[in-house]
Amino acid sequence: MAAIGAPLGAATAVGVALLGSRWRPPLVRAARARPWRAGALFGAGLAVVTTAIALPLSGARYAWGRDYGIVTQGLPAWLLDVAKGLGIQMLISAGIGAGVAVAIARAPRAWWALVALGAAVLIYALTVLSPLLLEPVFQKTAPLRDPALSAQVLELADRAGVEADDVKVNDASARTTAANAYVSGLGDSRHIVLFDTLLRDFPDDQVRMVVAHELAHVERRHLLKGATWGAALAIPAALLAFAIVGWRTGFGAPGGGPEGTSLVVRRLAIAAASAAVIGALSAPLMTWVSRAYEREAEWRGLAISADPDAAIGLQQGLVDRSLGVPDPPEAVQVWFGTHPTALERIGMALRARDGGS
Ligand SMILES: [Zn+2]
Repeated sequence: MAAIGAPLGAATAVGVALLGSRWRPPLVRAARARPWRAGALFGAGLAVVTTAIALPLSGARYAWGRDYGIVTQGLPAWLLDVAKGLGIQMLISAGIGAGVAVAIARAPRAWWALVALGAAVLIYALTVLSPLLLEPVFQKTAPLRDPALSAQVLELADRAGVEADDVKVNDASARTTAANAYVSGLGDSRHIVLFDTLLRDFPDDQVRMVVAHELAHVERRHLLKGATWGAALAIPAALLAFAIVGWRTGFGAPGGGPEGTSLVVRRLAIAAASAAVIGALSAPLMTWVSRAYEREAEWRGLAISADPDAAIGLQQGLVDRSLGVPDPPEAVQVWFGTHPTALERIGMALRARDGGS
């Protein structure tokens, strides 16, 4: 499923671009030849097509999760989440489509720079706003109320030298039996979220290890660094998409009227397909960066919590509860592995216990 799913979005975007002569005339008419409107329609439409084509896979993933007992969410609630996800995707894609279309129309030779700049702004904005705008759409969170655990969290945060005034618990048990935790947001929007399944099913010392790992992400500013990687990589990606668009359609000014708008949308579709392919092919680079940060957070977390045995128990429990694979094949890890494997993390804990570095 992963092997089919990974290239599916890119293949969809390429297919949409190749079939352009069929959908462009009605789309330009519906947009009354305005580039921004055509771009917004294209963006929202691509989001719908991509979600629709991927739906059989996400459905199978849901059904198998139910079969194995790891997914606890009922079908109506799951469908509602899919619809909400699509709605958000449509809004964001429509905004990107409108912006890129205007850039292509107004700056036929410099739009790649505007797009790279816009991508950077969007990446930082989404990083800051995700805890405030996106996460509440899919989950409910409440402040961590357990006084003993709260005191321990503050002590760990003190050791890590960071603020931990915003630790929350979500309602993951409404969707899954798997346990997890994450940190998101930047500056004032930053918070650490623990799954309620983690607090329900794992002993306190293991929860503390999870918190120490998340605090290490905060201490090492991994979210800011990750966003900066994304913003930096958007520059060569935009240039490459610009080159591919120029190769297929030239670099001339598109002109006005329905014909000009049609050329703008054709370039937009090729740019979207290029970006999707570049994104899919850069997965090993992205997971490599992610694994490097996760390894650092794990190692720092072990130092902060000073409890390697809890870290080992935690990894065993997470594999057990999440039906994870403790030691996946190398190729799977390179393409999809955002974290070191459970076996590697147990190895790190053993090394920490032996006082290694
Ligand atoms: Zn992590």
